[in-house]
Amino acid sequence: MTSTARRLPRFAAALTEEQTLIAESARDFATRRLAPGAAERDHSGRYPLEQLGELAELGLLAMKVPTSEGGAGTDNVGYVLAMQAIAEACASTAVVLASSNLTSKILGDHASREQKDRWLRPYAEGKLGPASFALSEPGCGSDASALTTSARADGDQWVLDGSKMWITSGAHAGLHLVFARTDGPGKEGISAFVVERGAPGLVIGKEEDKMGQRASGTVALSFDGCRIAASNLVGRRGAGYPIALSALGAGRVGIAALSLGLGEAALALGAAYAEERKLFGKSLSDFQNTQFVLADCRTELDAAWLLTLRAARLLDEGDKAASETSMAKLFTTEAVGRVVDRMVQVHGGYGYSRDYAIERIYRDARITRIYEGTNEIQRLVIARGFLSGA
Ligand SMILES: Cc1cc2nc3c(=O)[nH]c(=O)nc-3n(C[C@H](O)[C@H](O)[C@H](O)COP(=O)(O)OP(=O)(O)OC[C@H]3O[C@@H](n4cnc5c(N)ncnc54)[C@H](O)[C@@H]3O)c2cc1C
Repeated sequence: MTSTARRLPRFAAALTEEQTLIAESARDFATRRLAPGAAERDHSGRYPLEQLGELAELGLLAMKVPTSEGGAGTDNVGYVLAMQAIAEACASTAVVLASSNLTSKILGDHASREQKDRWLRPYAEGKLGPASFALSEPGCGSDASALTTSARADGDQWVLDGSKMWITSGAHAGLHLVFARTDGPGKEGISAFVVERGAPGLVIGKEEDKMGQRASGTVALSFDGCRIAASNLVGRRGAGYPIALSALGAGRVGIAALSLGLGEAALALGAAYAEERKLFGKSLSDFQNTQFVLADCRTELDAAWLLTLRAARLLDEGDKAASETSMAKLFTTEAVGRVVDRMVQVHGGYGYSRDYAIERIYRDARITRIYEGTNEIQRLVIARGFLSGA
């Protein structure tokens, strides 16, 4: 990798010692333990199970859970830096961390004392494996408030029926945060539950054969009269929808960071290739066209960093930052889409070969414009924000 290619942007504000530490330990782990197997995991679709213990030890499964609950107590800026570093090496592992951290953040914010002792601490200590966030269904993704998975009270149990779709880590999670309808239609009728691995009536579907992020263990989950204890209800009955939304702003910033990891990896590969590749008696990087392409990519990635860090900082200050988190996700994922496409072009025919990492990165980047709220939904949030003057 060339020094030019590897240059990260100068941050607008200084990082704290904790933020630097979590970023450095994530980068060190990613370089040693994730980068070497990333191509093989992409080919085989093998979930990064053997790395999970170490990820838990580093606190990366429960980054935003307070240290008093066994988590890493990281703020959103630290989370962004760690996520970017992990995704630069392996986007599949990064999205596993994204959904695990989304679920653990929600449990940290909304679970009862008894629930935290039962699940959160053992989870943060790595005893339960990853966690899944199960909101989407075969019939609804963007329109999540239309979900139809039902939960009915039966004595001291809840009985769940229905199915969830596209659940990251669904086959491996020790606990699933499941959103189901307990009452009437609309947002008010939805409640949140923890369904533990092996719950009777929980059926794990086959792994999806995906375009990218192929090792993230995406499955459908079916609930066939699935019985869980009454005490598995998280938060108030009927509060499931706001609970789901409560962590999505931070989740979006996490996906922006994941996307930045892919963008930085792509630019580094493209710049290095352009310096090595000789044609017409000079290096590809000597052509002004190549330099302009690299300059555009660097500029767009710097802009994406700034939007992402702004959103993370606002969240850390206690601001909901609905528009800013959506802008970070929208701009970054679309900028990275352009960067990975241009870097495939810089590689010429080699960019189309599975032997070159840029081909995997190109596929891995595509989904970031779809999950954690599609970019069309982000545009709706942003427009709503400024039209209402919020
Ligand atoms: C690899 C992968 C991993 C995922 N992981 C998870 C997970 O762990 N947990 C989970 O719950 N979900 C997960 N998802 C689901 C993901 O969040 C949804 O796919 C996404 O929200 C879009 O929903 P949908 O697929 O139903 O598309 P739809 O909602 O049907 O959207 C189809 C198209 O219509 C557009 N559209 C929708 N509404 C509007 C509107 N109002 N105005 C304009 N355009 C609109 C969309 O932007 C999109 O282009 C994952 C998906 C994938 C592919």
